[in-house]
Amino acid sequence: MTSDRDTRKGGWEDLAWRKTRYNDRTVLKSGSFLNTFCPHCGESLLHEGMVRLETVTAEGVEGRLELSPYLNVFERRSDIHIPEGQEVKDLRCSSCHASLKAEGRVCGNEPSAVACVLVGISTIRVPFFFCMREGCRWQLIDPDDEHKIILDDSREW
Ligand SMILES: [Zn+2]
Ligand SMILES: [Zn+2]
Repeated sequence: MTSDRDTRKGGWEDLAWRKTRYNDRTVLKSGSFLNTFCPHCGESLLHEGMVRLETVTAEGVEGRLELSPYLNVFERRSDIHIPEGQEVKDLRCSSCHASLKAEGRVCGNEPSAVACVLVGISTIRVPFFFCMREGCRWQLIDPDDEHKIILDDSREW
């Protein structure tokens, strides 16, 4: 597998997606910037360059959780302590305060709850699921949805 070279000189398109070597399917490239929105109120969740959510720990402590908007960049920060390995009780939109917990879905690694936000590169927004257990990096964009936002992106540019 080739590592991600710095392909910035190739332009936006090259930065946002690439073909895999295994098959001809195009996938979003690690590091792609994803606009992130609440599925309930449609507001952007980006604040000061981070995806800002409200979180409630298993103990009921409420705080703020900030995630990187770049695909596969697992930078997180919080103003409260969330123990490693703990599944948080809830994640909420920082604008409308609705729960982002995706009912009926679990993490691909263990039976933890997952949260859902909407992401997109240009105009189309698709569901992005991620695990609510602190420290777990499981996340998912349905392959068909991923293809949609890549096509949308390539038409626009
Ligand atoms: Zn909202
Ligand atoms: Zn998980």
